[in-house]
Amino acid sequence: MRNRRAALAAVASAASLALALTACGQNSEGGGEEKKGGADGATIGVAMPTKSSERWISDGANVVKELKSKGYKTKLVYGEDDPDQQVSQIENMITQGVDALIVAAIDNKSLNNVLQQAKDADIPVISYDRLILGTENVDYYASFDNEKVGELQGSYIVDKLGLEDGKKGPFSIELFAGSNDDNNTKYFFQGAMNVLKPHIDKGELVVRSKQTALNQVTTLRWDGGTAQKRMDDLLTSSYRSAKVDAVLSPYDGISIGILSALKSDGYGTGAKPMPVVTGQDAELASVKSIIAGDQTQTVYKDLRKLAKVASNMVDAALNDKKPEVNDTKSYDNGVKVVPAYLLQPVSVDKDNYKQALVDDGYYTENDLK
Ligand code: BGC
Repeated sequence: MRNRRAALAAVASAASLALALTACGQNSEGGGEEKKGGADGATIGVAMPTKSSERWISDGANVVKELKSKGYKTKLVYGEDDPDQQVSQIENMITQGVDALIVAAIDNKSLNNVLQQAKDADIPVISYDRLILGTENVDYYASFDNEKVGELQGSYIVDKLGLEDGKKGPFSIELFAGSNDDNNTKYFFQGAMNVLKPHIDKGELVVRSKQTALNQVTTLRWDGGTAQKRMDDLLTSSYRSAKVDAVLSPYDGISIGILSALKSDGYGTGAKPMPVVTGQDAELASVKSIIAGDQTQTVYKDLRKLAKVASNMVDAALNDKKPEVNDTKSYDNGVKVVPAYLLQPVSVDKDNYKQALVDDGYYTENDLK
């Protein structure tokens, strides 16, 4: 049997199942109080990457809420984008005896040792949003269709520039990608390039900087300031006598940096209209920016659903059931293909934000004022 709770139950069932249930009940907070989903007072450790982005703050809150509704206790920690700090936070939670872990990794390869400790302590691990690489000690993966996220960004640019309607350009575009230590980065970039590359090859889209390889366009830790600096440099080196028509941005925080660089260079006025700028996460500031006509698009990922999926996975794993998955092929972490449940992302712009975000209850009209 895979987990401690299951092992405990097995030992106890040799004596008496009824006794075992009573024993579990006594361990739970509130002693003997009935728990939904058989939580029995188990504690789940939740490790999130950073509070610097709104999305992860929501993720933490949503996951805790879901787990509590199933009767679990929780420990929620944030690694502040420091991989070492995240490792020691997870170590601490293992020492404190958590029963399962939900981890959104900062650096996808730095967790191998600590996850071995989790395995040795029989603690199931759910990789949350970002796949953890290079270890067999990750049980399930809860995320979105990450390649689709990139495809939505790429297609938005192509549609908005009219390339699908017969316009030939050439239009100039610059490409940005996420952090190179985040496994999602290559999926987002690949998805976008699936759509953009044919137009680049035909000369309809021109990358004046010539920086088209993933390792030339990544943004360490998804940092907006780093992206702003790179956009400043690109505008200086490649756009003195031309204007940029589109910028592929993988994440709203990066888009904010790019937009600042563009504004400082005079974009957003009559002579120099804002280029098409994509994004991801539908963060509040960026949705407001879309409404104001600065950022053009974002990709909405309903984090409430992701929290539900991850919590259901934990609940199933701790009750020796098979969590629901819908993808057993796409996410190979180098050691094994991790069974995944992937949710669908949605492209959002000025035209559909009300329907996509407000009608869905993600934001209220008031939030967006
Ligand atoms: C997430 C994105 C997020 C990015 C930066 C990625 O792993 O999938 O939703 O924009 O990290 O936080």
